[in-house]
Amino acid sequence: SIVYLNGEYVRADEAKISVFDRGFIFGDGVYEVVPAYNRKPFRLTEHLQRLERSLQSIKLATGKTTQFWADLMQEMINRAKTDDSFIYLQITRGVAKREHIFPVPPVAPTIFCSSGPFIRPTAEQRERGIRVISGPDERWLHCDIKSVSLLGNVLARQVAAERGVDEVIQFRNDFLTEGSLSNMWVVKDGTLLAPIKNHLILEGIRYGLLATLAERAGVPFEARNITRAEVFAADEILVTSATKEVLPVLELDGAPVGNGQPGPIYRKIRAEYDKEISRL
Ligand code: PLP
Repeated sequence: SIVYLNGEYVRADEAKISVFDRGFIFGDGVYEVVPAYNRKPFRLTEHLQRLERSLQSIKLATGKTTQFWADLMQEMINRAKTDDSFIYLQITRGVAKREHIFPVPPVAPTIFCSSGPFIRPTAEQRERGIRVISGPDERWLHCDIKSVSLLGNVLARQVAAERGVDEVIQFRNDFLTEGSLSNMWVVKDGTLLAPIKNHLILEGIRYGLLATLAERAGVPFEARNITRAEVFAADEILVTSATKEVLPVLELDGAPVGNGQPGPIYRKIRAEYDKEISRL
């Protein structure tokens, strides 16, 4: 397949970066994953805003405009092998002698973009939902930055994989944060609850979207601290990410969530999500 690297479109197996790239050495970079349906990006404006926020948070000035990122992503969507695709964009602080402080003068950032097929959750997967375990959130205190430093997320996801489940629901000081690569939602007495947006979670693009969809579906929505006890007593748990879209969590630490079936709030939100995609 063809990837974009620093201004050129090259074969993936021929794309090369320096061993001194700060992304490789320090994990000094940020990324985005944008889903495209029928060759159209979904929630592009929101992704681009989050990208700018991430870049600002790590003080990385790329010299590129928002239009540049939008054009690059559309180009990769057009070149993708499938109509539904994922665009991965990664920007690092570039190549420099190994030193923690930023290079002076700044060097050109490394910009990498690739696409892959997006296989949407099937009807069967939507009914089967996902299985999760609970675990401690051992990541750093800037989880709001979509940084490529993902070791904490990788280790948490690996524990889940080794236990044969799909995701981990992480807790910090007994409060729900999020999954290792997804946001988590709790339904109690008909209300959709989300953890407060702060430095402890990544604001998924579906975070704002689900609030909107809940409103459209007439589902009360509230963002607040959610305790471990509340998660374990939830009527429903939902998971969202670009790849998962929205799915029900039907098993937590080996026990069924609610009655172990996709619940009514999930079904309402899911229907609105599908409508939103069809509006593209
Ligand atoms: N939280 C984490 C830690 C993530 O890595 C992701 C990304 O997949 C999300 C939440 C969900 O974000 P989005 O809805 O933008 O895919």
